Amino acid sequence: MARASKGELHNEEYELLEVIGTGNVQKAGLLLGSKNVRVNCLDEHGMTPLMHAAYKGKASLCRLLLQHGADVNCNEHEHGYTALMFAGLSGNKEITWMILEAGADTDAINSVGRTAAQMAAFVGQHDCVTVINNFFPRERLDYYTKPQGLDKDPKLPIKLAGPLHKIITTTNLHPVKIVVLVQENPLLAEVESLRKCCRVLDLICEKCMKQRDMNEVLAMKMHYLSCIFQKCSNFLKEREDKLDGLLKSLLKGRDTDGFPVYQEKFIRECIRKFPYCEATLLQQLVRSISPVEIGSDPSAFSVFTQAITGQVGFVDAEFCTTCGEKGADKRCSLCKMVIYCDQKCQKAHWFTHKKACKTLQDVREKQEIEAAKVKKNQEKQQKKAEIEAAEVNSEVGPSSPQTGCTEELVSIDPSTGRAEPKKTAEVSVPSPESAYEGDSSITSTNTLKELEE
Ligand SMILES: [Zn+2]
Ligand SMILES: [Zn+2]
Repeated sequence: MARASKGELHNEEYELLEVIGTGNVQKAGLLLGSKNVRVNCLDEHGMTPLMHAAYKGKASLCRLLLQHGADVNCNEHEHGYTALMFAGLSGNKEITWMILEAGADTDAINSVGRTAAQMAAFVGQHDCVTVINNFFPRERLDYYTKPQGLDKDPKLPIKLAGPLHKIITTTNLHPVKIVVLVQENPLLAEVESLRKCCRVLDLICEKCMKQRDMNEVLAMKMHYLSCIFQKCSNFLKEREDKLDGLLKSLLKGRDTDGFPVYQEKFIRECIRKFPYCEATLLQQLVRSISPVEIGSDPSAFSVFTQAITGQVGFVDAEFCTTCGEKGADKRCSLCKMVIYCDQKCQKAHWFTHKKACKTLQDVREKQEIEAAKVKKNQEKQQKKAEIEAAEVNSEVGPSSPQTGCTEELVSIDPSTGRAEPKKTAEVSVPSPESAYEGDSSITSTNTLKELEE
């Protein structure tokens, strides 16, 4: 079929653009089967169906269009926007990822010289910025799965490419998370496999620093992962516990305040060992981290994450205390001061958290008493002012208690260290059988109320 020119659409193509707006995948599928529909047709602004679907955040439609051969790098748009730019603007991480995997060019710029990552950052879609900045095409890794030059064997056995690629593209750089990813993959969790992966990561790091358009961020990330793999390998050589000991070391908090000193020192050491000491990024990291006393803010992890992923601060999201995963929303039900993704993360942390939990509980109670005092005072003052000002009876009732949006986790029996499911019930459900869910007592509703301790 002839190359599409702007605004010259068949009726069915108009219909397809309309259907994309409604999100009807089935209808879109039927239309794409019609011989009058070109998957890369252009509307009067030079937008393809894929651009429309990406901008509207319709993931299933994007997938369908890509299956029908949509061109991710079409650049006929009047302002030079690409599908990746629209995905970034929409704030949809899944679509951003999908379009990257389909081969989108991350360096393409629009008519005012902005890349997709810069545009997403400009509109505050930081999750998409993170996805774009951490994308690493599989082909770049697959290069090492073929023998190069005089090598007889490839540097990376093909079976390791998948698991290694998964870790390279992760946006959660928490050392615990990375070690868990290694531990979960029996192919990877072997001394020899880890040695090969380290070698490849170091080579990619070197390439990133030596290529013409140097990429310090990616180089630093590769080096950091290589350091963690190295550490895993050392622990596997010395111990029989399949990395459990390493996880414990990384999580163990010091007695005074539960701060994970080993983890902090490990991340600092990784950064310091970066082999290109002239790198601007290294110097920035060292300047931000070295004056900070161990245990004070910011932690090396938060500085490092911000530099690598572009995540701005840790303001409007909650991060799991164990693995650093974003969006954790389950609290320790005793102290309510630490947050986890799930029960697994809570269990992994309990061995060290149990020592600090009581102290944190006291801290929280004190904070609450203080806050209540301040509030009471404010109310008193306000009431007085109102009476003075108007001499009218103005009633200031106590404000209703805050309903937090985080759930509470099951409590862990401190004597046994075992997690005891807490009896929970939805406020609106009176029947205890329907609410009691045995071991997996974390439910997804946010309206949980404790029945009893
Ligand atoms: Zn977690
Ligand atoms: Zn606690």
